[in-house]
Amino acid sequence: LNQSLEKAWQKLKGESAINKENVKEPLRDIRRALLEADVSLPVVRRFVKRVEEKAIGTDVTVGLKPDQQLVKVVSDELIGLMGTEASPLAERGFGTTVVLMAGLQGVGKTTMCGKLASYLQSQGKSVTMVACDVYRPAAVDQLQTLGERVGCPVFSLPDSKDPSDIAKQGVKAARDAKADYVIVDTAGRLAIDEDMMQELRDVRKAVKPDETLLVVDAMTGQEAARVVQSFDESVELTGAILTKLDGDSRGGAALSVYEVSGKPIKFVGVGEKLTDLEQFYPDRMAGRILGMGDVLTLVERTEAAVEEKDAERLMKRMMSNEFDFNDFLEQSKMMAGLGSMSSVMKMLPGMSGITNDQMRETEKNLKRFEAMIASMTEAERTSPDVLVRSPSRRARIARGSGHTENEVSAMVATFGGMRKRMRSLVNMMGGNASAGMTP
Ligand code: GDP
Ligand code: MG
Repeated sequence: LNQSLEKAWQKLKGESAINKENVKEPLRDIRRALLEADVSLPVVRRFVKRVEEKAIGTDVTVGLKPDQQLVKVVSDELIGLMGTEASPLAERGFGTTVVLMAGLQGVGKTTMCGKLASYLQSQGKSVTMVACDVYRPAAVDQLQTLGERVGCPVFSLPDSKDPSDIAKQGVKAARDAKADYVIVDTAGRLAIDEDMMQELRDVRKAVKPDETLLVVDAMTGQEAARVVQSFDESVELTGAILTKLDGDSRGGAALSVYEVSGKPIKFVGVGEKLTDLEQFYPDRMAGRILGMGDVLTLVERTEAAVEEKDAERLMKRMMSNEFDFNDFLEQSKMMAGLGSMSSVMKMLPGMSGITNDQMRETEKNLKRFEAMIASMTEAERTSPDVLVRSPSRRARIARGSGHTENEVSAMVATFGGMRKRMRSLVNMMGGNASAGMTP
């Protein structure tokens, strides 16, 4: 997944903005990458369409280049696709919270009951489990063994063949025992099956669960979307749990769940041990799917490129009339780090009306300024006024930087005017202005 996405970003490197044309190929790569990750086709289609709309119409985040911008859009969309926020397990303020587990056979329901019980107990909650898999005697034993290991009671009725009756009595027993949680394990089938759905509806009616969680095997891939959809339609789900994420799974199932059902994934299973349970965090999952933690960190860092500390220090110097050529250099480097000058300029207060011609002129001026500053001595940089008084210094700088003496004089004058304007701007804004400049 990783590699095809890497290609997608690469294709935007060096472009100055995202447009309908240059985003086409990266979008194709993203589409392919998601399909390879086993995301179902309709989900991929909708996803790519949304990414396209956002990437083209987007307000450029300060400092992001087009490729980083696309990474950000894809990452944000991925996170949104999985529900954005972590979704904790329901908890009744008063009485016993009922959690019903549903899902196909072999996906890890019974194992997950044990993991959840263990997790809840580690949070100081008391738990009872109820064994409603009446088809396989071994399933009841399995839950009982887990109960012993976790140290929580397991309710079962060996002679009953009625899951809803067992569930009802089990939940009552948990309430009598004043358990904080009761977890009801049910029988799965190999495939979607009306009997199973009816059974689940009956159990739901009998115990009115606070949570009905669909356990989905992450290895299910494309099929996951259909499974989630039919369970959600037949028995109203409140959420899902994704198991076997430790395997070869490419994570695509995670993308389908919320998109198809609007129900959040609450936990993930990452192994066969009781402790192999994690809360589900959409942003972490997105990072894992994108396989590009580094790029995301880079994006975050760029977003914070004008570090507050630096900006603040520069601000102070502007206000104190100490702003010199070194500060000027630092400031223009900062702004260069934020991407193309023009996109940054447009975001500065009072600059949105600036024309493209003026902007190009400003950019050219900045480059000239930088070259001239490079030819200054340290004393000249820190005391700009000496240049006002010394034609010979200006002549030396002109020679050194490949400019005329007039150009250097104009620069010195512009810089002086800029300092003045800065100070008055700062005073006008009560010292709260953000770092900006009008050379
Ligand atoms: P059920 O039929 O849905 O109750 O599934 P089980 O809980 O009996 O689990 C079926 C198999 O999957 C067992 O061998 C489990 O050990 C295994 N299993 C369950 N969860 C995970 C997981 O997160 N990772 C891995 N690798 N195996 C798991
Ligand atoms: Mg089971």
